[in-house]
Parts: sequence; structure tokens; C-alpha cells
Amino acid sequence: MQFLTDFLEQAKASNLYRKTVTYNPISPTCVQMDGQRYLMLASNNYLGLTHDPAVQQAAIDAIRLYGTGSGGARLTTGTYLLVDQLEQELARFKEAEAALVFNTGYMANLGVLGSLAEPKDVIFSDELNHASIIDGCRLSRAQIAVYRHADMEHLHNLLENTVCQGKRLIVTDGVFSMDGDLAPLREIARLGEKYDAIIVVDDAHSTGVIGPGGKGTAAHFGVNDKVQVQIGTLSKALGAEGGFVAGSKELIDYIKNKARSFIFSTALAPATIATALAALRQLVTRPEMVTRLNNTTQYVRRLLQAANLQVVNGVTPIIPIIVGAEEAAVRLASELKQQGIIITAIRPPTVPAGTSRLRLTVSAAHEQDELAWAVDIITAAMRQPGMRVR
Ligand SMILES: *Cc1c(COP(=O)(O)O)cnc(C)c1O
Repeated sequence: MQFLTDFLEQAKASNLYRKTVTYNPISPTCVQMDGQRYLMLASNNYLGLTHDPAVQQAAIDAIRLYGTGSGGARLTTGTYLLVDQLEQELARFKEAEAALVFNTGYMANLGVLGSLAEPKDVIFSDELNHASIIDGCRLSRAQIAVYRHADMEHLHNLLENTVCQGKRLIVTDGVFSMDGDLAPLREIARLGEKYDAIIVVDDAHSTGVIGPGGKGTAAHFGVNDKVQVQIGTLSKALGAEGGFVAGSKELIDYIKNKARSFIFSTALAPATIATALAALRQLVTRPEMVTRLNNTTQYVRRLLQAANLQVVNGVTPIIPIIVGAEEAAVRLASELKQQGIIITAIRPPTVPAGTSRLRLTVSAAHEQDELAWAVDIITAAMRQPGMRVR
């Protein structure tokens, strides 16, 4: 088993070693460990719904009524009324005919891409797509044509010049998870039409965040009717767990019959489904949460820019502050933790070498004064040798 030691030593030597860090979340924006409180600036809990009293109560009620586990896979045992309700309301929310819930967003991508594409097909995939999209593409054994990030000329070239005996699919994150930028969906939709390609958009970071009422990037760009397959997660802005796909009735029926990550895994627990359903209802009835999130996001972006930090521009609550060297990013994150702030250093292979960063995420539950306090501390910590400041 020497390879285990070799791998771990190598990871440590190059500052790429990863470990889990333990804390207890005690509010949407605060975690606690060993009597110490920290401001959480690294969560995807964009609307703070994890601690919403109505959402929490729905989960408690579901456990009381329906027990803890679902008892089996959806096609054998595990489809109960709450799941049907959630799927119907997700479909309505996404303005689609139907929706299907998976156990995670990761499994949704494996199941959807793995069942939609076949070896004779070609999938055109943005180079910065999420790992679960990449793995879903691989699972399908289709040919994969990777285009440079958001580069529509490159995508156009590949569509024009890649020989394809079967179907074409174009797949992209709606909001890119590490840079927080939006996919150019209008151009993608246009190219999709021109080359008869099926468009798959993964709105993991956009559901509840982008578009009117948080309906996602296709709604934001007004191309809902041109995006045939919309994927999302229940685990970020909706504060639960699980993934979903929305589209035509026939699409959902096909995926139900074909996606192995759907067929061969036990259904989510009643408490989880009830959480997602209650959170979705909060989102639909209180769209002002999305407005508040966007205002808070703009506030933090302005503060960081005023402090001259190298922030990746954008409109989403994912705000990358580029540090550069892997070692510097890790050191900075650990220093910020000592000062009471949790913010994650993102390193290769998640992002390209030399662009290691702090990935700050904002939530609608953050208060402006605590964010201003955090930006001051981050700014001071960045003014040190080895940090890249504009
Ligand atoms: C987080 C994420 C996923 C995975 O969703 P989970 O529910 O966490 O498994 C998929 N795609 C993208 C773009 C993501 O950011």
C-alpha cells in the first residue's frame, strides 16, 4: 500500500492536500467549534433557508408522519406523495412539463448525461463545467468536444467541424461554480438551433439565485423554450439535498427508465423532500429573498473592488478573489479562520494552476455590517508579501 503514502506526501508537498474541517452550523451565516464562532463565507446556502422556521418545521413534521428513511429506490418502494408534489412544483417553477428528483445534483448529471448520450453522439462541453458534468459525459461514452470557457467562436468551430454520426448535445453550467460567471446562453441557444443540438444547462448555482424569482439562467436570458434539459440541485439555495432535471414529459419518462443513478439508489428521506418542498414554496412566495441576495451581492462586490482586490467580475454571489499561488491561498484562508472568518481556498485541480483563490459566497441572510467587517479583515490579510493585489 506504498502508493497511499506516496500520493498523500506528494499532495502535501505541493500544497494540494485536502482535509475535511469540522464545525457546527448554528445559523445560516454562523458556525461554531470549540466555543469559537465563525462568520461563514463559504456556503452555498444562498437564501439562508437551512434555518427558516417554516422549512425546519416541515422536515420535523415529515419525520413524525412518514419516518426517517424512504425504504427503497423510487421504482420499487420509495415514491411517496411528497416526492410527487415536489416534482410537480419544481416543474411549475421551471415552467416545464415535468421534473424528476435525484438524490444529489451529482447523480442528476451522471443519470441525465449518461442516459441521453450514446457512443455515436458528440457532447460539446465547456472546459470549466462542474466535475459531475464531466463524469456524466464520460459515463455516456459519447465523444466529448471541450470548448474554451464561454468561447462561442470555439464552440461554433467545433460544431461545424466535428464529424457526428448521432446526436449533438451542448452542456454547460448556468453559473460556473468556481468563477461565478454566467454561461452565454443566448448564443448557445442560437448555435443549438443552427446545429440541431440538444441543450443541457446545469443551474445548480442559479436556482433561487438568478433570473426572475430565481428561476435560473434560461429564464434570465429568456431562452426557456430553447433549453430542452434543465438540471438543478436542491442542496444549495434550497437548503436541502438532492438534484433534479426538468423538461418535457417524454424526456422525464425516458430518464426515469434509463438513468442508473435514479433507478439503483434508495430514494431521499421524507424529511429531505419535505425540506426541499417547503424551501421551494418559500422561494415562490417570497421572491424578495432573491432581490435581497442580489443587493447584498452587489454591496460586497463594490466593497471588494473599492479595496482594490482582484475580484472576478460578475453578478452572482460567488465572488472569487484571486490570490495566485496555492501556498498563499491556503495560508490566507487559515489566517482568516484565526480571525473568525470561514472562507475556502480553492486550488488545482478545481481551478487552473496559478489562479488559486478565495471563493467568497454571499447569502441573503448576511447583514451588511458583518460583511463590511469581513472585507476589512480580508483586505488587511491580502496586503502581505506573496499576495496578488491589483
Ligand atoms: C454543486 C454542483 C453540483 C452537484 O450538486 P450536489 O447536489 O451537491 O450533488 C452539480 N453541478 C454544479 C454546477 C454544481 O455546482
